[in-house]
Amino acid sequence: MSLYCGIACRRKPFWCYRLLSTYVTKTRYLFELKEDNDACKKAQQTGAFYLFHGLAPLLQKSEHQYLPPKYNLAELERLLGKFGQDAQRIEDSVLIGCSENHEAWFALNLNSSSSTNASLQKLEMERELQGSFTELRKALFWLNVKDASLLSTAQALLRWHEAHQFCSRCGQPTKKNVAGSKRVCPASKSIYYPQIQVNLRELEAADWFSHDEVVTALRRNDPYTQQQNGTVPFWLPPKLAIAHHLIKEWVEKPTCSTLPA
Ligand SMILES: [Zn+2]
Repeated sequence: MSLYCGIACRRKPFWCYRLLSTYVTKTRYLFELKEDNDACKKAQQTGAFYLFHGLAPLLQKSEHQYLPPKYNLAELERLLGKFGQDAQRIEDSVLIGCSENHEAWFALNLNSSSSTNASLQKLEMERELQGSFTELRKALFWLNVKDASLLSTAQALLRWHEAHQFCSRCGQPTKKNVAGSKRVCPASKSIYYPQIQVNLRELEAADWFSHDEVVTALRRNDPYTQQQNGTVPFWLPPKLAIAHHLIKEWVEKPTCSTLPA
Protein backbone atom coordinates (compact mmCIF):
# COMPACT_ATOMS: atom_id res chain seq x y z
CA MET A 1 0.00 0.00 0.00
CA SER A 2 2.77 2.48 0.90
CA LEU A 3 4.50 1.90 -2.44
CA TYR A 4 1.28 2.60 -4.33
CA CYS A 5 0.63 5.59 -2.12
CA GLY A 6 4.04 7.05 -2.88
CA ILE A 7 3.53 6.72 -6.58
CA ALA A 8 0.01 8.12 -6.44
CA CYS A 9 1.24 11.05 -4.32
CA ARG A 10 3.64 12.20 -6.99
CA ARG A 11 0.87 12.06 -9.55
CA LYS A 12 -2.07 13.47 -7.59
CA PRO A 13 -0.76 15.39 -4.55
CA PHE A 14 -4.07 17.05 -3.57
CA TRP A 15 -6.17 13.92 -3.82
CA CYS A 16 -3.58 11.90 -2.03
CA TYR A 17 -3.31 14.35 0.84
CA ARG A 18 -7.07 14.70 1.24
CA LEU A 19 -7.70 10.96 1.10
CA LEU A 20 -4.84 10.17 3.42
CA SER A 21 -5.73 12.75 6.09
CA THR A 22 -9.42 11.79 5.98
CA TYR A 23 -8.51 8.13 6.17
CA VAL A 24 -6.17 8.63 9.12
CA THR A 25 -8.54 10.76 11.23
CA LYS A 26 -11.48 8.45 10.57
CA THR A 27 -9.43 5.34 11.32
CA ARG A 28 -8.20 6.85 14.59
CA TYR A 29 -11.73 7.77 15.63
CA LEU A 30 -13.11 4.33 14.75
CA PHE A 31 -10.25 2.67 16.61
CA GLU A 32 -11.12 4.70 19.71
CA LEU A 33 -14.79 3.69 19.49
CA LYS A 34 -13.87 0.04 19.02
CA GLU A 35 -11.68 0.03 22.12
CA ASP A 36 -13.64 2.30 24.45
CA ASN A 37 -17.18 1.19 25.35
CA ASP A 38 -18.08 4.51 26.99
CA ALA A 39 -16.91 6.52 23.98
CA CYS A 40 -18.88 4.23 21.69
CA LYS A 41 -22.04 4.55 23.80
CA LYS A 42 -21.62 8.32 23.64
CA ALA A 43 -21.19 8.12 19.87
CA GLN A 44 -24.54 6.32 19.64
CA GLN A 45 -26.23 9.44 21.06
CA THR A 46 -25.20 11.51 18.05
CA GLY A 47 -24.79 8.66 15.58
CA ALA A 48 -26.99 7.09 12.95
CA PHE A 49 -28.42 3.60 12.63
CA TYR A 50 -28.99 1.50 9.51
CA LEU A 51 -31.69 -1.13 9.88
CA PHE A 52 -31.71 -4.76 8.78
CA HIS A 53 -34.29 -7.52 9.12
CA GLY A 54 -33.16 -11.11 8.75
CA LEU A 55 -29.82 -9.57 7.61
CA ALA A 56 -31.57 -7.80 4.68
CA PRO A 57 -30.95 -4.02 4.64
CA LEU A 58 -33.82 -1.53 4.64
CA LEU A 59 -33.97 0.48 1.40
CA GLN A 60 -36.17 3.38 0.41
CA LYS A 61 -36.82 4.46 -3.14
CA SER A 62 -36.34 8.16 -3.76
CA GLU A 63 -36.68 9.66 -7.24
CA HIS A 64 -34.71 7.24 -9.43
CA GLN A 65 -32.46 5.67 -6.85
CA TYR A 66 -32.49 3.46 -3.79
CA LEU A 67 -31.08 4.67 -0.50
CA PRO A 68 -30.59 3.03 2.89
CA PRO A 69 -32.29 5.38 5.40
CA LYS A 70 -30.52 6.32 8.63
CA TYR A 71 -32.22 6.83 11.99
CA ASN A 72 -30.96 8.65 15.06
CA LEU A 73 -31.12 7.10 18.52
CA ALA A 74 -34.41 8.77 19.54
CA GLU A 75 -36.10 7.67 16.30
CA LEU A 76 -34.80 4.15 16.74
CA GLU A 77 -36.06 3.94 20.32
CA ARG A 78 -39.49 5.12 19.19
CA LEU A 79 -39.55 2.56 16.36
CA LEU A 80 -38.49 -0.31 18.62
CA GLY A 81 -41.28 0.65 21.04
CA LYS A 82 -43.78 0.67 18.21
CA PHE A 83 -42.61 -2.80 17.07
CA GLY A 84 -42.91 -4.14 20.60
CA GLN A 85 -39.16 -4.54 21.00
CA ASP A 86 -37.10 -3.52 23.99
CA ALA A 87 -34.79 -0.50 23.63
CA GLN A 88 -32.08 -2.80 24.98
CA ARG A 89 -31.99 -4.33 21.49
CA ILE A 90 -29.80 -1.32 20.58
CA GLU A 91 -26.99 -3.10 22.44
CA ASP A 92 -26.96 -5.62 19.59
CA SER A 93 -26.00 -2.93 17.09
CA VAL A 94 -22.53 -2.89 15.55
CA LEU A 95 -20.28 -0.01 14.55
CA ILE A 96 -19.81 0.03 10.78
CA GLY A 97 -18.09 3.33 10.03
CA CYS A 98 -18.27 7.08 10.42
CA SER A 99 -18.62 10.23 8.36
CA GLU A 100 -15.89 12.79 7.83
CA ASN A 101 -17.54 14.81 10.61
CA HIS A 102 -17.29 11.83 12.96
CA GLU A 103 -20.93 10.88 12.93
CA ALA A 104 -20.68 7.23 13.93
CA TRP A 105 -22.71 4.74 11.91
CA PHE A 106 -24.22 1.59 13.36
CA ALA A 107 -26.21 -1.32 11.99
CA LEU A 108 -28.96 -3.19 13.82
CA ASN A 109 -30.67 -6.40 12.76
CA LEU A 110 -34.27 -5.96 13.93
CA ASN A 111 -35.02 -9.65 13.88
CA SER A 112 -33.23 -12.86 13.10
CA SER A 113 -34.64 -14.92 10.24
CA SER A 114 -35.43 -17.83 12.57
CA SER A 115 -38.35 -16.07 14.29
CA THR A 116 -41.72 -17.70 13.62
CA ASN A 117 -43.71 -14.52 12.98
CA ALA A 118 -40.76 -12.82 11.30
CA SER A 119 -42.42 -12.33 7.90
CA LEU A 120 -45.57 -10.83 9.39
CA GLN A 121 -43.56 -8.49 11.56
CA LYS A 122 -41.37 -7.60 8.57
CA LEU A 123 -44.36 -6.40 6.54
CA GLU A 124 -45.56 -4.31 9.44
CA MET A 125 -42.11 -2.72 9.83
CA GLU A 126 -41.81 -2.03 6.10
CA ARG A 127 -45.14 -0.20 6.15
CA GLU A 128 -44.07 1.93 9.09
CA LEU A 129 -40.59 2.62 7.67
CA GLN A 130 -41.88 3.20 4.12
CA GLY A 131 -39.22 0.99 2.63
CA SER A 132 -38.41 -2.63 2.04
CA PHE A 133 -35.89 -5.03 3.53
CA THR A 134 -34.05 -6.15 0.42
CA GLU A 135 -31.76 -9.10 -0.08
CA LEU A 136 -28.25 -7.67 -0.20
CA ARG A 137 -27.31 -9.40 -3.46
CA LYS A 138 -30.15 -7.52 -5.19
CA ALA A 139 -29.55 -4.31 -3.27
CA LEU A 140 -25.95 -4.12 -4.54
CA PHE A 141 -27.23 -3.45 -8.06
CA TRP A 142 -29.35 -0.49 -7.00
CA LEU A 143 -27.06 1.27 -4.57
CA ASN A 144 -24.09 3.52 -5.17
CA VAL A 145 -20.73 1.99 -4.34
CA LYS A 146 -20.39 3.84 -1.05
CA ASP A 147 -23.70 2.56 0.34
CA ALA A 148 -23.15 -0.90 -1.16
CA SER A 149 -19.78 -1.16 0.54
CA LEU A 150 -21.15 0.05 3.89
CA LEU A 151 -24.10 -2.35 3.85
CA SER A 152 -21.90 -5.28 2.80
CA THR A 153 -19.63 -4.62 5.76
CA ALA A 154 -22.64 -4.21 8.05
CA GLN A 155 -24.25 -7.46 6.94
CA ALA A 156 -21.01 -9.40 7.26
CA LEU A 157 -20.48 -8.06 10.78
CA LEU A 158 -24.07 -8.76 11.87
CA ARG A 159 -23.83 -12.27 10.46
CA TRP A 160 -20.54 -12.89 12.24
CA HIS A 161 -22.08 -11.87 15.57
CA GLU A 162 -25.09 -14.11 14.99
CA ALA A 163 -22.79 -17.05 14.34
CA HIS A 164 -20.51 -16.46 17.32
CA GLN A 165 -22.98 -16.25 20.19
CA PHE A 166 -21.25 -19.08 22.00
CA CYS A 167 -17.64 -19.76 22.92
CA SER A 168 -16.13 -22.46 20.75
CA ARG A 169 -13.84 -23.53 23.61
CA CYS A 170 -16.29 -23.92 26.51
CA GLY A 171 -19.76 -23.42 25.00
CA GLN A 172 -20.70 -20.51 27.27
CA PRO A 173 -22.49 -17.45 25.79
CA THR A 174 -20.08 -14.78 24.55
CA LYS A 175 -20.64 -11.06 25.09
CA LYS A 176 -20.02 -8.42 22.47
CA ASN A 177 -18.40 -5.08 23.28
CA VAL A 178 -20.43 -1.95 22.44
CA ALA A 179 -18.89 -1.43 19.00
CA GLY A 180 -19.11 -5.09 18.09
CA SER A 181 -15.41 -5.25 17.29
CA LYS A 182 -15.01 -8.36 19.45
CA ARG A 183 -16.84 -10.93 21.57
CA VAL A 184 -15.51 -12.14 24.88
CA CYS A 185 -16.24 -15.35 26.75
CA PRO A 186 -16.55 -14.38 30.45
CA ALA A 187 -15.83 -17.97 31.52
CA SER A 188 -12.66 -18.80 29.58
CA LYS A 189 -11.68 -15.18 28.79
CA SER A 190 -11.35 -16.13 25.13
CA ILE A 191 -11.63 -13.19 22.76
CA TYR A 192 -13.10 -13.52 19.27
CA TYR A 193 -12.56 -10.92 16.55
CA PRO A 194 -14.84 -10.57 13.50
CA GLN A 195 -13.45 -11.65 10.18
CA ILE A 196 -15.38 -10.09 7.35
CA GLN A 197 -14.96 -10.38 3.64
CA VAL A 198 -15.12 -6.77 2.45
CA ASN A 199 -11.80 -5.02 2.72
CA LEU A 200 -12.42 -1.28 2.56
CA ARG A 201 -8.72 -0.64 2.07
CA GLU A 202 -9.00 -2.42 -1.22
CA LEU A 203 -11.74 -0.03 -2.29
CA GLU A 204 -9.71 2.94 -1.13
CA ALA A 205 -6.68 1.66 -3.01
CA ALA A 206 -8.75 1.77 -6.20
CA ASP A 207 -9.76 5.36 -5.45
CA TRP A 208 -6.13 6.45 -5.83
CA PHE A 209 -6.32 5.83 -9.53
CA SER A 210 -8.28 7.39 -12.35
CA HIS A 211 -11.44 5.85 -13.75
CA ASP A 212 -9.57 4.86 -16.95
CA GLU A 213 -6.74 3.21 -15.04
CA VAL A 214 -9.20 1.12 -13.04
CA VAL A 215 -11.04 0.12 -16.22
CA THR A 216 -7.74 -0.98 -17.80
CA ALA A 217 -6.79 -2.93 -14.70
CA LEU A 218 -10.14 -4.72 -14.66
CA ARG A 219 -9.66 -5.79 -18.27
CA ARG A 220 -6.31 -7.44 -17.56
CA ASN A 221 -6.32 -11.11 -16.74
CA ASP A 222 -3.64 -10.96 -14.12
CA PRO A 223 -4.47 -8.26 -11.58
CA TYR A 224 -0.99 -8.31 -10.06
CA THR A 225 1.01 -7.36 -13.14
CA GLN A 226 2.30 -3.91 -13.92
CA GLN A 227 0.44 -1.59 -16.24
CA GLN A 228 1.55 -1.69 -19.85
CA ASN A 229 3.59 1.51 -19.66
CA GLY A 230 5.33 -0.01 -16.63
CA THR A 231 5.02 3.04 -14.39
CA VAL A 232 2.13 2.24 -12.07
CA PRO A 233 1.83 -1.13 -10.40
CA PHE A 234 -1.91 -1.41 -10.02
CA TRP A 235 -3.40 -3.91 -7.67
CA LEU A 236 -6.99 -5.13 -7.64
CA PRO A 237 -8.67 -7.44 -5.14
CA PRO A 238 -9.15 -11.02 -6.43
CA LYS A 239 -12.17 -11.60 -8.65
CA LEU A 240 -14.09 -13.47 -5.98
CA ALA A 241 -13.75 -10.67 -3.42
CA ILE A 242 -16.77 -8.45 -2.83
CA ALA A 243 -14.47 -5.44 -3.16
CA HIS A 244 -13.63 -6.50 -6.71
CA HIS A 245 -17.31 -6.51 -7.64
CA LEU A 246 -17.92 -3.17 -5.99
CA ILE A 247 -15.03 -1.64 -7.93
CA LYS A 248 -16.36 -3.20 -11.13
CA GLU A 249 -19.82 -1.85 -10.36
CA TRP A 250 -18.33 1.60 -9.83
CA VAL A 251 -16.59 1.73 -13.21
CA GLU A 252 -19.61 0.35 -15.02
CA LYS A 253 -22.03 2.89 -13.54
CA PRO A 254 -20.88 6.38 -14.60
CA THR A 255 -23.35 8.03 -12.18
CA CYS A 256 -21.48 6.62 -9.18
CA SER A 257 -18.54 8.99 -9.24
CA THR A 258 -16.84 8.18 -5.95
CA LEU A 259 -15.64 5.22 -4.03
CA PRO A 260 -16.02 5.19 -0.23
CA ALA A 261 -14.03 8.05 1.33
ZN1 LIG B 1 -15.40 -19.90 26.77
